[in-house]
Amino acid sequence: MNQIETRGLTRRYGRTEAVHALDLEVPNGSVFALLGPNGAGKTTTLKVLMNLLAPTSGVATVLGVDSRRLGARARTQIGYVSENQQLPRWMTVRQVLDFCRPFYPTWDRELEAALLRQFDLPEDRKLAHLSRGMAMKAALLASLAYRPKLLVLDEPFSGLDPLVRDDFIRGVLEVSAQGEWTVLLASHDIEEVERLADHVAMLEEGRRTLCERTESLQARFRRVEVTLGEVTPALEGLPTTWVEVERAGRVVKFVETRYERDATEGACRTRFVDAAVVAKPMTLREIFLVLARQGRTNKERAA
Ligand code: ATP
Repeated sequence: MNQIETRGLTRRYGRTEAVHALDLEVPNGSVFALLGPNGAGKTTTLKVLMNLLAPTSGVATVLGVDSRRLGARARTQIGYVSENQQLPRWMTVRQVLDFCRPFYPTWDRELEAALLRQFDLPEDRKLAHLSRGMAMKAALLASLAYRPKLLVLDEPFSGLDPLVRDDFIRGVLEVSAQGEWTVLLASHDIEEVERLADHVAMLEEGRRTLCERTESLQARFRRVEVTLGEVTPALEGLPTTWVEVERAGRVVKFVETRYERDATEGACRTRFVDAAVVAKPMTLREIFLVLARQGRTNKERAA
C-alpha cells in the first residue's frame, strides 16, 4: 500500500509552474527521498501534501485521504518538520513537549525521554535561544514522540553540523526501523540522504526525472574500465546505455547505466578483443552526478 500518491499534481504560483504533472508513489514503510536543486519544487510538493497549499490541478492522497481534506485527525498521524517551523519560540523545550503531548493520543513518553537524551537537548532553554541545529532537533523530537505513521521532513539537514546531522539521521533511522513508519524527506544534497533513503525521486524544474528504489539504481550503474589488448578499435557504435565514455591509451572507461554482468561483459568482449573488464559499484552521489550531467546534455541537445 502507498502512504502517499500523487497523480498529475500541478501547482502554479501566478505564472510560475513550481510542480508539473507529478506522479509519485511512496510505499508504506519506505524512507523516500525527494531530491532536486534549489527551486525544483520540493517544498511546494510537500506543502501540497500537508494541505498548506491546494493543488492547481491533479490530486494527492495522503494516508488514504485527499490532501485537500487532510484535517486534525489525520495530522495526529503525520509528523512534519520544516525550516519554517511554527513552534512557539517563547516556550522552553520542556514546555513545548508538555504543550504538544495532549494533542496526540499515541504520544510515547518513553520515546520522548529516550530522544531527549539522544539529542542532548537543554530542556529548560527557550526555543528562541536554541541554535538552529538544536531547534531542528527539538522540532524532530516533537514530531517523533507520537510515533506518526508518516514523517515528512523538508530539508532537515541544511545548515546542521556533521555531528548534529548524525544524531538526526540516527534518530530517524531508529524510529523508521522500529515499525512500519514511512518517511518522506526533501533535500538538495544526495550525500545527506544516502544513508537513509531506500527510494529516490528526482525533481528538476517541477518535473520528475527519476523515481526508483535506491537498490535497483545502485544495481544498474557501474563504472567500467576496459583494458584493451593489442588491437585498439575506434569507439563507434557503442551501446547507448554506456555514457561518459573516455579513452586514455589502452584503457577505455565508461559508466554503464543498465549493468548486468554477463550482458555488459559480453558487449565489451564483442567490441574489444582480449579486453580485461573491471566493473565497480558507484555511490548514489556518483550516480546522481552522472544523471545530472546526462540531463544537462540532453537539454542542450534538445535546445
Ligand atoms: P529549495 O531547495 O530552494 O527550497 P524547492 O525545490 O523546495 O527549492 P520550491 O520552494 O518548491 O523549490 O520552489 C519552486 C518554484 O516555485 C521556484 O521557482 C520558486 O521561486 C517558486 N515559488 C515558491 N514559492 C513561491 C511563492 N510563494 N510565490 C511565487 N513563487 C514561488
